[in-house]
Amino acid sequence: MINSKYQPGKHFLQLPGPSNVPDRILRAMDYPTIDHRGPDFQVLTKDCIEGMKSIFKTKDNVVIYTASGTGAWEAALVNTLDEGDLVLMVETGHFASLWQTMALKLGIKTEFLKTDWRRGVEPQKLFDRLIEDKEGKIKAVCVVHNETSTGCTSRIKEVREAMYNAKHDALLMVDTISGLASMDFQHDEWGVDVTVSGSQKGLMLPPGLSFNAISKKALEKSKHSSYRRSYWDWEDQINSNKSGSFPYTPATNLLYGLKEAITMLHEEGLENVFKRHDRHAKATRIAVQAWGLEVLCVEERDYSSVLTAVKLPAGYDADELRKIILEKLNMSLGNGLSKLAGQVFRIGHLGDFNDLMLMGTLSGVEMGLSLAGIPHQKGGASRASEYLANNI
Ligand SMILES: *Cc1c(COP(=O)(O)O)cnc(C)c1O
Repeated sequence: MINSKYQPGKHFLQLPGPSNVPDRILRAMDYPTIDHRGPDFQVLTKDCIEGMKSIFKTKDNVVIYTASGTGAWEAALVNTLDEGDLVLMVETGHFASLWQTMALKLGIKTEFLKTDWRRGVEPQKLFDRLIEDKEGKIKAVCVVHNETSTGCTSRIKEVREAMYNAKHDALLMVDTISGLASMDFQHDEWGVDVTVSGSQKGLMLPPGLSFNAISKKALEKSKHSSYRRSYWDWEDQINSNKSGSFPYTPATNLLYGLKEAITMLHEEGLENVFKRHDRHAKATRIAVQAWGLEVLCVEERDYSSVLTAVKLPAGYDADELRKIILEKLNMSLGNGLSKLAGQVFRIGHLGDFNDLMLMGTLSGVEMGLSLAGIPHQKGGASRASEYLANNI
């Protein structure tokens, strides 16, 4: 560990991103940086872009930014909208709120449908609002597929259906920064116009890359959007990518890693990857219930397979629990964000992850609950292990 004394054994990085980077990806990146205008690089660019299309399940354009997910959020907005446009967003949690704040900073008007932060988007509520918008003032609907602050997902197919049923012409923009490559996502089939994602969650890479998948309709809109943009401009990216290059020096070594990640996901098979995540999430919820604690997400069909946010009984501090688990057991868990600070902790069970890693994680949480003196029933981890053994 950096800046602290050596702790033997493997650190458990059980945040819902950044996730554990597998050795194969680390080895793939441990290679000299090559000429980003040379012939080898052109092949790498094409492999990464074509590969990402297979992950987004799209035939349309995908662009890759040297940026965190936040950059790709900005790209989605500034390529498609005009200043002063109205977008409809849903406050599913902290990340949806950050995207909304960004839109406001960029001079975009927002309408922000509330939730209790314990469920995903309710398609009916979107429908009710869109059907009122007879003049088509709403230019885009922006939602988060997997709300990493709450462990609740939104059913994007149903969101799109609500838009079709309301006969509304707005673009659909979806943040699946933490959902992609862990839970099913179908950019084309679900009719998403702009999908936003990032490297450090289901894609198992370090932070530093982010993505936009772009429908034909969104690309067409970008040609008429008057928004001032430079670094994020899709056109520059797409034109350079045609010859296998980028408009600037790309993150070459992260692209080596991305190519390896895509290969690994297809070796396992995307459907198997999704099933693995579903099973680990289910085992985690079994443990939480056995401890007598509460899963933050209250809507069963919205349960996230990427992470589980766990509520502590009133009067107990989740950050104190996380501190004890880090210091005594060398495991990092996710904290409660903004209005959930101190009330919840988040268990990430995504990316390069298997049954025994989950068992280590859940045992660590159970030990931590004892060490922190938090009232709970014993045996959650063993209940989870029974479930796993019975559902191999
Ligand atoms: C992680 C995350 C982000 C932010 O991504 P950065 O890479 O930190 O900029 C946005 N939305 C969701 C849902 C996320 O999980």
